This record gives sequence, C-alpha cells and structure tokens, in this order.
Amino acid sequence: MEIQFLGGASEVGRLGMLLRRGPQTLLFDYGMLPSRPPKYPIEAPPVDALLLSHAHLDHSGMIPWITSAYDIEVYGTPPSLDIADLLLEDSLKVADLEGFRTAFDGQDVARSRKMFRSFSFGDVLDFDGVEVLTHSAGHIPGATMFEVNVEKTVLFSGDLHTLSTDLVLGAKPVKCDILVLESTYAGRQHPPREQVQKDFLRKIKQVNQRGGIAIVPAFAVGRTQDIILTLAREKFYASLNGMGKTVNSIYAGHKGFVRSVRKLKDAMDKVNVVGGRKGLERALKSDVIVTTSGMLDGGPVINVIEALREDAKSAILLTGYQVEGTNGRRLVEKGEIAIRGVTVKPKCEVQKFDFSAHAGHNDLVKFVEGCDPEKVVLMHGDNRKLLADALEGRECVMPMEGEWVQL
Ligand SMILES: [Zn+2]
Repeated sequence: MEIQFLGGASEVGRLGMLLRRGPQTLLFDYGMLPSRPPKYPIEAPPVDALLLSHAHLDHSGMIPWITSAYDIEVYGTPPSLDIADLLLEDSLKVADLEGFRTAFDGQDVARSRKMFRSFSFGDVLDFDGVEVLTHSAGHIPGATMFEVNVEKTVLFSGDLHTLSTDLVLGAKPVKCDILVLESTYAGRQHPPREQVQKDFLRKIKQVNQRGGIAIVPAFAVGRTQDIILTLAREKFYASLNGMGKTVNSIYAGHKGFVRSVRKLKDAMDKVNVVGGRKGLERALKSDVIVTTSGMLDGGPVINVIEALREDAKSAILLTGYQVEGTNGRRLVEKGEIAIRGVTVKPKCEVQKFDFSAHAGHNDLVKFVEGCDPEKVVLMHGDNRKLLADALEGRECVMPMEGEWVQL
C-alpha cells in the first residue's frame, strides 16, 4: 500500500491524496487553491473513486474536473455534497467575474452532481475489498475522517478540530497504525474559545455604544454559523448578507451533522437576512453585519466597507485566518484594501478574533497520542517540522507533493 500527494502536502490548500493498494486507487479529496488566479494540484491519474472529507474548495474544488475525466463516483456526507455543489457553482461565477481560466465548466458541475453518493458517520464503504469506515472530523458539520482497513489501518484526518463548539462536536481519536494528519496549526495555539466569544461580543457592544457598526466578514461555510450562534447569546440587531444564509439552510436540513439544529434555527431566526439592491441600505441600520467574503476578496462585504470606510466609530472584526495575498491580509498589515481596483484606507478600527475550525498545536499532539499510530504522515501545513518535533519518539514523515510513500 502506498500514498502520494497531488497537492496540499507542504502547503495549506489544493489537497489531493492517492492511496494505491493492488489494482485499487482511491483519491482522498481533490481541491484547488482559491487564490487569484486559482492554483491547481498535480493532474490525477485514473482512480476508482473520490472520497470527500468536506466541502471547502481546497478539498473539493477539482471534483467536476475528475468526474468528467474518469466518470467516477464521489462519496461524501449529505451536507458536504450539497455545499460542495454550491461552492463549485459559485467558483465559476467568481472566475467569470474576475476573468480567470477554470479547470471545468457548468456542464462538468452538473455531471459531477450525478456522481454524488452520500454516507453517514459510522457507515462502511467497500471498494473491492478496501473497507473504509467514516468518522466525524469536527471542523465543520459533515466533515469526515476516513479509516481505511486493510492489512493495516490508515486514518486520513481531512481538516480536523477536536474542540466542541456551538456548531459541531469535536473529533475523537481513532486507533490506527498510520495516521495521515493535517498540520495547519503546527506550532500555533488558539486562545480558549469561550474567551474569544466573550471578547467578540464585548467589542461589538463597545462599537455600538460609540455609535458605530460592527462589520464581521465571515466565510460562508462554518464560520458564518459559528458567528450567528455566538451573536444569539446577546440581543443585537444583526444582519446577514451573502452566501452564508444558503449554507445555514443546508445545515438546518441535515440533522445529525450539526450539534443542535434547533439552536441553529433559533440563531437564524434572530438575524435579519438581507439581500438584493435594498440589502445594503437595510444592513446599514443594524448593530452588526455578518457578510462574505471572509478575506474581503469580493462579496457584499466590499459594499459594506465602502459605505462605512470614513466612519472611525465602526469596526471591521475579522473572524478567520487571512491568507497572504488577500485583501484581508492587506488590511491587517497595511491598513488598506482594494475596492474595485482602487486602494482605500478605511478609517474603521480593525481587530482579529480567532474562531478557527482547525485543531491547534497541542490539540494535534493530544490527538496523535489518542490514535497511537506507529507512523504519522504530516500533510496540509507549511510548518510541519514544528509538529514533527513535538511528536519526538514517533516515526513522522513529511512527504512532498508527487512523492510516493510506502505504508
Ligand atoms: Zn476545511
């Protein structure tokens, strides 16, 4: 048995991992890096099936390409498949708007949808004698870890969080021989979530008290739901604009993947969903505006910032990691962003809050101890060495993209 990364081994994004055993080749995730322009993984050879850990584009973004190339089935949880479909359609719109070349078209997306096969946690999938058991990975609702059971047990973590949040229960370790582990937060810790939520709510109140509006850019998938669940703890007049509202409805329709559908629905009822041409006008009357995109690269958040950029009483509260090269990173580092090609310096206060959906360094170390593997394959990180050092005494490998690893 051997594995090879087509992407996303030494970096975060465009993940794809081949697992070959005898005549069988399975592909775990096949994503793209939604940078500008997008970056793609190594071209996949023919495979027997694609197993999708979750919907984020860096794991799902190449699905339409591979289903068109090889006519294979794609296995995922119902929320992962529904949301991947939504994000793939959206990625075509973004590419069209920005003038980027895409790896597939609308027909490929429609064709891929027909190849979707869903499973629930605890299901065993059988690929000609290669048995795969599915577990929750925390991270976002529906995110999956795959346990491959052949002569050895291999656990593929996908993106992982062990923390139970208002949205989703944390992942539990699974005993295995080989652990293929994401390392996004190698060397970095998260502050306690309860404290982050308290500080976040306090900040919004402070901004409102001085007469400003809190602008909360948030990824549509996972983060928006975390934020509206947090806001529901207080009585704000909150607006929600952007794709997050569609994702809310998808999650609310899939019981068993969200920690509490009732709580999510209650939180949704408390926010004012705005959209269309009147959306901005209505949003600007609220205490707090939750909107996409999370890294300020397009989406309705741009119009909100444009409207409030001269208002020093208002604040932009970032809720996720800002990748290099994005507008969000530029705002944090230089206090400026590009709005439709023009550089502007918003007068609003800028603050960051860590609502990460990935396990921090110590969480990862603890997870490894719980799984107790003989070998750890570190992937999905640009600082893997720091995690390998912390796992001293255990065999750790850090393959590069394109390199085969014998298991
Ligand atoms: Zn993810």
